Amino acid sequence: MIVIMNPDATMRDKSAVIARAEDLGFKVHLSEGKERTIIGIIGNDRVINREQIERMTGVERVVPILKPFKLASREFKASDTTFPLGNHTIGGGEIVIMAGPCSVESRSQIIETAIACKEAGAHVLRGGAFKPRTSPYAFQGLGEEGLKYLAEAREATGMPIVTEVMEPGLVPLVCEYADILQIGARNMQNYALLHAAGESQYPVLLKRGMSSLIEEWLMCAEYILSHGNTRVMLCERGIRTFETYTRNTFDINAIPVAKQLSHLPVVADPSHATGKWEYVAAAAKASVAAGADGIIIEVHPRPDEAMSDGAQSLKPEKFARLVREMKAIAQAVGREVNP
Ligand code: PEP
Ligand code: MN
Repeated sequence: MIVIMNPDATMRDKSAVIARAEDLGFKVHLSEGKERTIIGIIGNDRVINREQIERMTGVERVVPILKPFKLASREFKASDTTFPLGNHTIGGGEIVIMAGPCSVESRSQIIETAIACKEAGAHVLRGGAFKPRTSPYAFQGLGEEGLKYLAEAREATGMPIVTEVMEPGLVPLVCEYADILQIGARNMQNYALLHAAGESQYPVLLKRGMSSLIEEWLMCAEYILSHGNTRVMLCERGIRTFETYTRNTFDINAIPVAKQLSHLPVVADPSHATGKWEYVAAAAKASVAAGADGIIIEVHPRPDEAMSDGAQSLKPEKFARLVREMKAIAQAVGREVNP
């Protein structure tokens, strides 16, 4: 439930509410606004007596949160979550563009790609150093060496880095190099990883599991938020359906649904959602029109030589054209791409 305090509630009134909730074994989240303080009481609402809290001094009203996800819900927080990343703002209307190769393959490949993406208008550099591959015989990523090359690419371009972390034990290492931790579709429900990412207090890009309900995805975001880490982005990357002409089926519905249910920024990944470069631009432009706060796109200077996901990777020139088109779409729907 959330407790909305009167505008004239004193520090003492607030502390009393917090103490009462904590005594009953609940987690408390305090949000001090300009006019009002809101106290989130998180746990099982049935064992707390709502009237008892409502009668306390300084309390204006108590609103139960009916959804199973609490901290992630719009009921808990009506305004969009926004946070700064480098010179950009994530969430809150302006679209952020993340781009780069599926995998970091070499120092020169990531630096070349980073420079091309930056020139084309990207804000954040993507690239996997630890790769979750369907086959154990496929390229598994360069590991820490890849992280070092990413850091060099950041040096060269000034772009912050988003990269995947696959196990809880590697969160501290990845945090040494990354600006955003990516939790991949295959690991969406890896609860130990969600705990570790939550504890890290680093921004997290949480991909939707390939057969996951929107509610399951939001419950996973809740795990991260429950550690006090509020910098969580949701990423729709396509789901499994019976269709085989595309790698996955882009669930464009998930964008407005997630934005209605949650205050968290929503990013679209048209590369994994379609699996074929020919369809990436259409899905990317649709995402901008549908209200996505960000787009993450795979770009490779020589897709034929890519060690993973070449078929869905755009060449830099095609990516540059897409950025121009996304800007036009954004303008047409009264939005803007981050400068
Ligand atoms: C990736 O971003 O390269 C990736 C493996 O994505 P997903 O987890 O969505 O499959
Ligand atoms: Mn990929």
